[in-house]
Amino acid sequence: MKVIRAKSAGFCWGVERAIDIAREYAVQGKRPVFTDGPLIHNSQMMEKLESEGIREVGDYMSQSKLELGLSPEEKQQAVMVVRAHGISPNRREYLKNLGMDFRDATCPDVGIIAGKVKLYARKGHSTVVFGDPKHPEVMGLMGYTEGRGHVIKSEKDIDALPPLGDKVCMVSQSTMFTFEFEHLAEYLKKTYPDAVVFNTICGATRERQSDVLVLAQQGAEAIVVIGGRHSANTVKLAALVEKQHLPCFHVETVAELDLKQLSKYKIVGVTAGASTPGFLIDEVCEKLSAMDA
Ligand code: SF4
Repeated sequence: MKVIRAKSAGFCWGVERAIDIAREYAVQGKRPVFTDGPLIHNSQMMEKLESEGIREVGDYMSQSKLELGLSPEEKQQAVMVVRAHGISPNRREYLKNLGMDFRDATCPDVGIIAGKVKLYARKGHSTVVFGDPKHPEVMGLMGYTEGRGHVIKSEKDIDALPPLGDKVCMVSQSTMFTFEFEHLAEYLKKTYPDAVVFNTICGATRERQSDVLVLAQQGAEAIVVIGGRHSANTVKLAALVEKQHLPCFHVETVAELDLKQLSKYKIVGVTAGASTPGFLIDEVCEKLSAMDA
């Protein structure tokens, strides 16, 4: 079987940076490192990090109280690292007051979105966030809206908004589809023509999404998307493959490949979400390449 691997498949710079920050302490400094919820949305990589002394604590949403049971001496040694998706200012305060070293591994692209939300909230704007209300990035961003934030995913959600006044600012979760954002921004502007709109979908997301189209152009008859089922950008890649009317195989690991179904194709594209480690992509590519065409 011919396998075409998307150029952008795998870690984005924000994920790589978060992992580097955590490893800097755990591996080089040999200190216990904690992350408040998953540092990145890939359980295989989180398992690998755990074996290096980087422990996920708390819950998926980064909301629960943390009971680490550390002695004062152990606390002095430990480091709390903020996940790549970012957190709300309240959660930041809480983590900083745990009595251990604090390192922020929020992706700078998410930091830029938070900065815009904070700035416009201070100026009195209401914020409309295009995204998933249950995604930790969106929950973190909502914390900067000074209580005037609304999450929307559809025209229906926009119709259901309370009156927002003259000052409205719109941003996007970093991993959404640009065409949907643009459509909803236009729709919002019908009611709020002066709304300040920032397309904050990150470059890594755009690149991975456009590479799916490249795989289709290169003749892929089906596409394997590798990545966590909690990973927003991976799920979007899978949706985009289906939008191209191509068979999509979303797997987390090589063991999940449906080899029987895949054996029907001569050319298969492979892509992966921004939090998928290279070793998982290599395993899938090797397995597929070894199959008879
Ligand atoms: S997907 Fe984008 S926003 Fe998220 S960590 Fe990667 S670069 Fe940052």
